[in-house]
Amino acid sequence: MSSVLGAPPRATRLSALAIEGAFAVAAAARALEQQGREVIHLELGQPDFPSPPHAIAAGIGALEADDAKYTAPAGIPELREALVAYARGRGIPATLGNVVVTSAAKPMLQYALLLTVNPGDEVLIPSPGFPIYPSAVRLAGGTERYYGIRLTDGRWTVSWDEIESLITPRTRAIMLNSPHNPTGWTATADDMVRIGLLAEQHNLWVISDEIYSGLAYDYADGIAPSAAAVPGLLDRTIIIDGFSKRWSMTGWRLGFGIVPESLWEDLVALVINNTSCAPPFIQRGGVAAVAGSQDVVHALRRSLHERRDRFVAGLNSVPGVHCALPSGAFYAFADIRELLARTGLDTQTFQSKLLQEFGVAGCPGTDFGTIGDGFIRFSFATAAPKLDRGVELLNAAAKAFGA
Ligand code: PMP
Repeated sequence: MSSVLGAPPRATRLSALAIEGAFAVAAAARALEQQGREVIHLELGQPDFPSPPHAIAAGIGALEADDAKYTAPAGIPELREALVAYARGRGIPATLGNVVVTSAAKPMLQYALLLTVNPGDEVLIPSPGFPIYPSAVRLAGGTERYYGIRLTDGRWTVSWDEIESLITPRTRAIMLNSPHNPTGWTATADDMVRIGLLAEQHNLWVISDEIYSGLAYDYADGIAPSAAAVPGLLDRTIIIDGFSKRWSMTGWRLGFGIVPESLWEDLVALVINNTSCAPPFIQRGGVAAVAGSQDVVHALRRSLHERRDRFVAGLNSVPGVHCALPSGAFYAFADIRELLARTGLDTQTFQSKLLQEFGVAGCPGTDFGTIGDGFIRFSFATAAPKLDRGVELLNAAAKAFGA
């Protein structure tokens, strides 16, 4: 049946939504592959390691045992207990009353904003930063205010004075992401104390996305400090975390929140309204991943560490490219401003030509905010020969584009 009026109007809130540019680059890269072209995939934030074998076995075993019915909305007790032990291992004084299992970190990110932000409230978020942050703030009715993560003497830094200067009576929360996507900046324990002081002084929530926390290269165990480990801060801190990165389980879509007890019931209500629960067999895989052998995690981190050193050195050997060593996560946020000045290209045109003409898929820095102009993000969570080939092709592209 066709109507003379056409479809009803779409909701206005949709204009608040951003998307993750990496998925668009991945689609363009796949289209090239379908034409038979070779593509070096450095666009998506996805480790090339398989899921831990004990997680796979537990997931399959659970499905075979028909563990495929609704669970308690907050998650199965075994997984919540394993996550409490995990959080305690990071110095977070969590109990079961702080932990909720979610269907990946992304929904938990949206829940964090829905839990804390009223229309008109302001939230401080990093720039460059994960593009879903401004989206999530706006969908919750809030307004984003950006603080910079900037290159100072070849290192990524955050200015606490800048953050403090952005706080107004409308500010409700500070969002942190450490280790940080896309720069790899990693907050020290002292930084977390600084944030805690600001949050206490101005009565703010701290929303801390710690999805890359097992992948911090300056720490022997790879574990970056948590905001919720600062004494007293768990009461005003929401941790967003998940299985995608350090357990290499992106497609399982399993995550969790560690929240103040005062928000726990409301968070469970959000889960009930959205997904009812995470799939039980997926949660069983999660229990095995957290509570079982961490050999795979350590092997992944060691491998990423080696790949980081090799890839960043490679990038820095390309004339006009400068890349600071990321302290965590698995992205090289390369400064190509010199290259752009020599070639007369802008960031997006360079990224697009690099993909279309040389088959190297990276994300334009502008996907991560205006401070990202002049940068390109490459994920180094892929095998060393591919990283080497990526550098070789980048070099060839720089020459061909006239650098
Ligand atoms: N936060 C950050 C900073 C990320 O980079 C990502 C994944 N790209 C996520 C959250 C989302 O993780 P998940 O796969 O658990 O939704």
